Amino acid sequence: MKLAEAPDAPPGNGAAARAFDVAVVGAGIGGLAVAALLARTGRSVVLLERAAEVGGACQPIVRAGYRFDAGATFFAGAGPRGALTTLLMRLGIDLPRTACDPTIQTALPRHRLSFSRDPERWWPEIRREVPDDEPGWRSLLAELAALASDRDGLAAALPALPPVGWRARLRFGQGLARQYLFSATRQAAQRLRKAEETPLRATLARVGLGPVSQQALEACLWYLVLRDADECSTLEAALALRRLTEGAMEVSGGPMALASCLAARLRQDGGEVRLLTEVAGCLVERGHASGVITRAGETIRARVVVTDVPPPILAQGLLPERRGWLSRRLPIEEPWQSLAVTQIMVLAVPEAYLPSELGGQCLVVLDAGRPATGENLAFVRLGSDRRQEQDPKGLRCLSVGRFVSPSAPTDAESLAQALMEAAEQVVPGIGEAAAYRAVLPSETLGDLWGRPLASVRYAPDSRQWLGRRGLPHQTTWPGVLAVGEGTYPGRLISDVVEGAIEVADRIAMAV
Ligand SMILES: Cc1cc2nc3c(=O)[nH]c(=O)nc-3n(C[C@H](O)[C@H](O)[C@H](O)COP(=O)(O)OP(=O)(O)OC[C@H]3O[C@@H](n4cnc5c(N)ncnc54)[C@H](O)[C@@H]3O)c2cc1C
Repeated sequence: MKLAEAPDAPPGNGAAARAFDVAVVGAGIGGLAVAALLARTGRSVVLLERAAEVGGACQPIVRAGYRFDAGATFFAGAGPRGALTTLLMRLGIDLPRTACDPTIQTALPRHRLSFSRDPERWWPEIRREVPDDEPGWRSLLAELAALASDRDGLAAALPALPPVGWRARLRFGQGLARQYLFSATRQAAQRLRKAEETPLRATLARVGLGPVSQQALEACLWYLVLRDADECSTLEAALALRRLTEGAMEVSGGPMALASCLAARLRQDGGEVRLLTEVAGCLVERGHASGVITRAGETIRARVVVTDVPPPILAQGLLPERRGWLSRRLPIEEPWQSLAVTQIMVLAVPEAYLPSELGGQCLVVLDAGRPATGENLAFVRLGSDRRQEQDPKGLRCLSVGRFVSPSAPTDAESLAQALMEAAEQVVPGIGEAAAYRAVLPSETLGDLWGRPLASVRYAPDSRQWLGRRGLPHQTTWPGVLAVGEGTYPGRLISDVVEGAIEVADRIAMAV
């Protein structure tokens, strides 16, 4: 993307440009959420999206008249205190939804485990599949639950936003120091620090989980945070796995229903949504962002710019180059790691043919002898809305996909074979039964979703975000805040929404 910058002089058409309180670049769930929240509070908001539709990675794949929900289909954060619930409540949106239980199933070559939102329902599964591991599971789950609650306790002691001004910082520091004197807080902080330093693999070995249980957990982690048990700290795993029990939902109409509701609410509240409008760069005047410049050359002025574009796009030109002392500050690309691209096969299968226990989300480990990560792991999911997706012949839309490293070779035939093997592991004979099938490589998905990657992850070291809520959204340019998948720990929609709420609150205080 070409750099478009006006460092210290107004652009040619600046005088005629309309000014908004906030310009949001990118209409993925993050951009939509922050724009809708701010319009609700009376700010003038413009949302700019380069595609013809809002939704970003939530857009369905439509092939041969079938609609496949290939990106997000289950929404975590749907419990009473979850981010998604908070967002819908604040915007007064009532979205038809159903609880998604079990949250996730894992299928190994000879084992199948379902993880319900109610941990009590895990035990029959564990006793059936890995009876010898039950004591290990019990001690692991108790330990992880205690860690997650310790972390909540400490996070609650921090302000929702970083304190502004030295007085507020001093007061905040004194408050924390006072709390730290209480031994309960000190002990919790010590436990958390230890859990941050201990990889999950070491904890699994200590509690004595066998290889099947380890693989099932590893598959969940890879899906939830794209890290394996060696990379993931025990604390990070505790927070990620809690997502399984927090309550997940399926939205009637699929993820696009959520995106469409947010866009409709934004328009109702006076916000402007401009589709087919690609932003080429931020306008920076006297070191402060003062709007954006579109690819067509239009200048749109705004007091604050929020970007909801994948980090590679942001880093490759959407922000002006740093000059002078600014260039020595934390580079925007530093905390991100390009991690995975998506490859997907879509299948239309007779409803009667599918096993009844196939839930919304099934993680398949292809080879039990290798780690349950990367190319050895696939997801199989049914479309989220039976009524809309079931065609008159009784076909259901199913997508099978995997995340692979951006450098992985793509050979359509072996890709199709690997994804079909994954589907066969859950529904034997599915290859013959499918009425329609197509393989979609990463480039096709990239074009559809407006993003070169399936996922990037934030700082590899969880210490960079635990306890420092709010900071990931800051960019090197004053006046530009970032939301979206690349800016918040975790990669699920609920994480994106949590970050968007935080950024909207911060802007509402300032503008
Ligand atoms: C295969 C897959 C499965 C997933 N499954 C789940 C799941 O089951 N549950 C879950 O919670 N999450 C899931 N996720 C993650 C979830 O989809 C993402 O977290 C979320 O959709 C990301 O939203 P976003 O707002 O960060 O960005 P995006 O959706 O990427 O939106 C970015 C938008 O910016 C636009 N854009 C880019 N450049 C410009 C520009 N220059 N000017 C204007 N607009 C621009 C793009 O067109 C796009 O619309 C999955 C993701 C993938 C890929």
